[in-house]
Amino acid sequence: MPKPIDRNPASAGGDWYIDTHCIDCAASREVAPELIVHRGGKSVFARQPATEEEERAAWRALLVCPTASVGTESHRTAPEGLFPQELASGVYRCGYNARSSFGAHAYFIRRSQGNALVDSPRYATKLVRAFEQLGGIADILLTHKDDVADAERYARHFNARVWIHEEDRSAAPYATNLLAGREAADVRGSLVAIPVPGHTRGSVVYLLEETYLFTGDSLAWNPRRQDLIAFRDACWYSWEELKRSLAALERYRFEWVLPGHGHSVRLPAEEMRSRLRSLVGRM
Ligand code: SF4
Repeated sequence: MPKPIDRNPASAGGDWYIDTHCIDCAASREVAPELIVHRGGKSVFARQPATEEEERAAWRALLVCPTASVGTESHRTAPEGLFPQELASGVYRCGYNARSSFGAHAYFIRRSQGNALVDSPRYATKLVRAFEQLGGIADILLTHKDDVADAERYARHFNARVWIHEEDRSAAPYATNLLAGREAADVRGSLVAIPVPGHTRGSVVYLLEETYLFTGDSLAWNPRRQDLIAFRDACWYSWEELKRSLAALERYRFEWVLPGHGHSVRLPAEEMRSRLRSLVGRM
């Protein structure tokens, strides 16, 4: 829990607050966009939660925060069952974002062919128990080297296969399944790994059932612009390569973008394709 003495004075008055140790990873703003805003290079509460749903959003902000910067002055205890948060049937946001991945979101997929974890949250007993109740983890799908977090501990606990591109393998030398080049590969059933070099040399997106695209840091939604974006200021390998990779994604059908950093979005598949084409044009 943060200490009230560290409370950011820019955070709205009241029980809920954010401290000055916030690293501006944006995760809290993505789970509580009505309440938490960007101000002075940090996240702060714009106002206190007013409804039960907003209170739950504030608790989710507390649980995603990798620096434990979100808290209540009354030191209340978080309710149960906030994470994993089901975003669509069988697709969950994990919460418990790791500082080592700069607060990136990780996702859990429940499916009869074997559950999967996309990138890794921090290792939290409550999350482990929840994954056990949902049937465990068969595959851990790493989108790139920055968001590996506690994947090794989850892999060991659940005896899971770990997927990563060989170009980013140094971040997960324990990986069991290496992807290579630009070749798409079947993971299991209708779950496909698609290499998208650009953000890093070994970046990969994972496409589930031609509907859900887990994009790591290669593609996200910007609610202010109401459009798809790529992160030019956080492109560690090659912007030109990323442009080529996103252009190649146009041949796939998907309705959801579920990123590590940035907001998620659901759009009709044709609109998604058209927005992706426009983004590539702007790049
Ligand atoms: S999740 Fe925590 S560190 Fe990240 S922006 Fe929010 S308050 Fe700051």
